[in-house]
Amino acid sequence: MDPELLFGAALGITSPWKVEEVEFSKEDKRLDIRISFERGATFACPVCGAAAPAHDTKVKTWRHLNFFQHEAYLTARVPRVKCPNAGCGVKQVTLPWARPGSGFTLLFEALVMTLAREMPINAVAALLGEHDTLLWRVIDHYVQMARERNDFCEVRRVGMDETSARKGQDYVSLFFDMDQRRLLFGTEGKDHETVKAFTKDLEAHNGSAEKITNASLDMSKAFIKGVNEALPNAEITFDPFHLIQHMNDALGKVRAEEASIFPDLMKGSRYVYLKNPENLTKKQFEKLTTLSNHRLKTGRAYLLKLGLQDVYFATSREEGERRLKSWYSWAIRCRIDQVKKVAKTVKNHWNGILSWFDSKLSNGFIEAINGLIQSVKRRARGYRTTKNLINMAFLIAGKLDFALPT
Ligand SMILES: [Zn+2]
Repeated sequence: MDPELLFGAALGITSPWKVEEVEFSKEDKRLDIRISFERGATFACPVCGAAAPAHDTKVKTWRHLNFFQHEAYLTARVPRVKCPNAGCGVKQVTLPWARPGSGFTLLFEALVMTLAREMPINAVAALLGEHDTLLWRVIDHYVQMARERNDFCEVRRVGMDETSARKGQDYVSLFFDMDQRRLLFGTEGKDHETVKAFTKDLEAHNGSAEKITNASLDMSKAFIKGVNEALPNAEITFDPFHLIQHMNDALGKVRAEEASIFPDLMKGSRYVYLKNPENLTKKQFEKLTTLSNHRLKTGRAYLLKLGLQDVYFATSREEGERRLKSWYSWAIRCRIDQVKKVAKTVKNHWNGILSWFDSKLSNGFIEAINGLIQSVKRRARGYRTTKNLINMAFLIAGKLDFALPT
């Protein structure tokens, strides 16, 4: 078999296309495959499908999958057809090996997409010897194509969170389907308008803002406002994780203040107060016992933290509310400003906190995805643009079907 026929078969190239010439360059470690079409061939008009002969041609080159250590390139004279049907005009024909406007073959793009799910794009770029900007363009294309096919008609319970895009300056807001555990939408910013942008996208994908019954969020004012404006039937659940985080922050501040007054006594107490008693080592437990013999504010704040956690162990909303009420009256009278602040936050978000007993929604998996995004960001030393970050989030959590050629 001729090498030309062999490469033609391997590339899946069929009539009227044929491999005309295959050329190895040892010095350049390069394989060039030149493709042409049969004389007198006709092509389908990309607008209406009518057959038409080539009107003119233009030479183009595409990067293809490596052939062993050789970088492989396809080159072809690409025809434009002048359709017999008036109105179609002169158009470039559809090629079986590449999509319009790309400098890569479909198989090379499939490789890019596969690698992009496994490693940071700067690493993929180094591996393939291509600039990452070109790879981001490929990713953007496939993410957008896959998103066009998304159908959100069954989305009922959503969660939202923000993540920092670049050095904590730019933010993107991400919106998730809490039942399918997948990313639905991402947009720049973290204000209430992001929720509106989400509902617009939801409805563009056959979903309905009115059918959203639950929304899970942290206690950010912007998201609360956004949900109230754009998701009229959604009951808000405040993520338990965030509330406990607030309490932990307060406890940390109380401890730091007191440690500056009693440095010797409080030395090594930081991790003791971060953990629950059952998770302490023997040594840490002894430290906690010693500390509890002193009348420390930190000790009281610690008990209040455990008390707040206990609310979530109630087995019904009613019991949860009883526990939250008694926690609140304890906390608001505790004479520790930081904790009283948390108590006020609890009061202002009362129903959304208790909603958890009905919805059981928490942003745990969203936090995990956020952690992945941030870790890839660190390894990639950034994403250059927020659009790239959102596309990466879709690769990680979009559960998209890219319909890649194999
Ligand atoms: Zn036509």
